[in-house]
Amino acid sequence: MEIILAKSAGFCFGVQRAVDTAYKEAGKQHVYTYGPIIHNEEVIKDLRKKGVLVIEDLAELDQQEDETVIIRSHGVSKDVMEQLEARHVNVVDATCPFVKKIHTIVQDESQKGNRIIIVGNKDHPEVEGIIGWCETKSYTVQSVSEAENLVKNIENEPDFEHINFSLVSQTTFNKNKFKDIVDIIRKKLYNVVVHETICNATAVRQTEARDIAKTVDAMIIIGGRNSSNTQKLYDISKQECENTYYIQTLVDLDLTTFESVSRVGITAGASTPNYIIKEVHSSMAELSFEQMLENDESKASIRQGEIIDGTIIGVKPD
Ligand code: SF4
Repeated sequence: MEIILAKSAGFCFGVQRAVDTAYKEAGKQHVYTYGPIIHNEEVIKDLRKKGVLVIEDLAELDQQEDETVIIRSHGVSKDVMEQLEARHVNVVDATCPFVKKIHTIVQDESQKGNRIIIVGNKDHPEVEGIIGWCETKSYTVQSVSEAENLVKNIENEPDFEHINFSLVSQTTFNKNKFKDIVDIIRKKLYNVVVHETICNATAVRQTEARDIAKTVDAMIIIGGRNSSNTQKLYDISKQECENTYYIQTLVDLDLTTFESVSRVGITAGASTPNYIIKEVHSSMAELSFEQMLENDESKASIRQGEIIDGTIIGVKPD
């Protein structure tokens, strides 16, 4: 069996940085992450064992002097940052620099008086954080129909031609969908400055998953149950390869399914730790080795005198 492991499988730069930060802080007194550091139960469990707890609300803090709160790669709103400062907790900011850049853009642009349009999912923590850095009115759209509605509503405002807008996107937004939405908005709203803030890590991982899935008999997608980017990888792969399997860890993998597979692809979502990818890869490599041995044994058994095409294999002719 040939095994193709995606080069882009696993942690992106921002997630790796946030997870490394959490492990660096582990062992200190009263360490918390504001929301799970990544969508991966294994990592969260391991960090919990090391004393790093997840809080969803600042009210959960114990008000101890030596509390540390780690901000995950999604970032948080300005308001949350200010509340943390007011509580005098030690803030370790692991916001991905690409997300931080969006905070700076929306803050600067709104300080110029521009309204902000965010292309993304308003319920996603990254977008909630971005909204919280806008100092003027902000709007969130994630589909063409939402963009059309937004434009209609703005057109009804008096003097709408004189309103300036700045537009950014959630880092993980789909590039093609982003372009469609921007086209709608640009047609009607003339004063829009577009900042394309999509991160390439996601696009690269998705393209590689599609390319591999096209060439294999089976595809394994590894990632947490709640990871939307892993679900997306699964959907993309499934379109190209019917035998696509979504697993969280090696435990979910039924090796018997792959016994007759000759080429398998493996990729993983942005929050899948390397050790889980390695475990899956090693198991498939072992299976491949067993297949090779079996093939050799069956060849050897053939050579013990079986007749193939009228010839007795392994027996010297007289
Ligand atoms: Fe940062 Fe991109 Fe990873 Fe998001 S996907 S955390 S923006 S590197």
